[in-house]
Amino acid sequence: MIPYRGRLAPSPTGLLHLGHARTFWTAYQRAQQANGILIMRNEDLDPQRSKHEFVTAMLEDLRWLGIWWQEGPDVGGPYAPYIQSRRRKFYLEAWRKLVQAGFVYPCRCSRKDLARSAQAPHDEDDEPIYPGTCRPHPDITPSEPPESPAGLNWRFRVPESTETAFKDGYFDTKSYVSGRDFGDFLVWRRDDVPAYQLAVVVDDAAMRITEVVRGADLLRSTARQILIYQALGLEQPAWYHCPLMLDNQGQRLAKRHDALSLRALREQGKTPEEVTAIFKD
Ligand code: GLU
Repeated sequence: MIPYRGRLAPSPTGLLHLGHARTFWTAYQRAQQANGILIMRNEDLDPQRSKHEFVTAMLEDLRWLGIWWQEGPDVGGPYAPYIQSRRRKFYLEAWRKLVQAGFVYPCRCSRKDLARSAQAPHDEDDEPIYPGTCRPHPDITPSEPPESPAGLNWRFRVPESTETAFKDGYFDTKSYVSGRDFGDFLVWRRDDVPAYQLAVVVDDAAMRITEVVRGADLLRSTARQILIYQALGLEQPAWYHCPLMLDNQGQRLAKRHDALSLRALREQGKTPEEVTAIFKD
């Protein structure tokens, strides 16, 4: 039996709210039940939106809630650094392999979706399907990658109308069709920022994660990530997507719901036990 390794992968772009807390609580419970290791990874790739004060807040708020991790930016561990902005060399190596094998091509289109690709695409802000403007002819032999990806966008070429199915610990079997549910997606931005989809696969594989626990709004991204695992010849982890928490209007909780941030709940005098009791309902 391979020992269980789970992860918490928050982005420091705002305060964590009740929805994040419930997902992270589930990740913590699953690691505990499996007698496993839980790691904390700071996903600070987006240089415009990541803020140092949110890094401190997310670590503090999760500790307050009673979640403990055995490896992370604050405690170290065998797969350090646990901070994405310091892991560039691993992403570059994967990018180079993907270009050499013809899975990834340069793209000169200027589109709005580029700006957001360093962040995980939570359902409503998912990338639109790329129309294929810069997609090379399939017979073109893959070329030697340039020294650096900077100056061009780089896209993963998804197989035409192909189903990618996976077993999820909560939702059971899920399946998405490339070309219909998602198109050629970004792995690197022209301003030299690696995209979330590439970084998360490289890190989950490098850190030997055996189960990914995260929100259901990333189910579709799991299909994209499986394509990267396959292209790089890596073994995929098990998947467990948690149902999303909704507000009174039925909207997904987002960082804009400041009143439901862990910070605010704590300032209102709620105890960690009162917060985690909400998750058991
Ligand atoms: N860092 C991502 C986010 O906060 C989570 C990515 C993941 O769990 O795969 O949205």
